[in-house]
Amino acid sequence: MFCSKCGVQNAEDSNYCRSCGANLAPLGATGHNIVRGIKPDKYAGFWVRVISFGIDCFVLFVLSVISGISIIIFFDNSPESTEKIYSIVYVFLCIFYEIWMTVRFGQTIGKVIVGIRVVTTHNEFVSYKLSVLRFLGKLINCLTLGIGFIMLFFSPHKRGLHDLIGNTKVVYTK
Ligand SMILES: [Zn+2]
Repeated sequence: MFCSKCGVQNAEDSNYCRSCGANLAPLGATGHNIVRGIKPDKYAGFWVRVISFGIDCFVLFVLSVISGISIIIFFDNSPESTEKIYSIVYVFLCIFYEIWMTVRFGQTIGKVIVGIRVVTTHNEFVSYKLSVLRFLGKLINCLTLGIGFIMLFFSPHKRGLHDLIGNTKVVYTK
């Protein structure tokens, strides 16, 4: 198929134009682009999502070490203020990583590696609004001793509380 913006030819099932990055997928039921290249009825369960989460924790750990070293190099502060800056940067890093990557790619690095992806219940790309709601849902899950995550075991389509709040599901990409 040809990109309507720049005219470059792309593979039929591409989500994005390989030249200009425009979204090539048709619009779905709620007006957002449909995600292609997924198995819409093959739902990701609890354990594969735990593995994905573990990989993401490792990625965030590496990123936090890099940002920590950068803070020490670029800001000549006392150890106390360096620690404060580091804590703030780390929290923002975690929030940005989860929310932005879910919107932009539908996947964090952990999800890419295990081959799963977040889409809306209409198989569309997740908007910022839904991604933020989903993130807040995860915070609620943590504050309620993980009950929202345990829901993955018995809810239809393996959706946790955060998926219900964000109107999302997690499916396999292959
Ligand atoms: Zn293009």
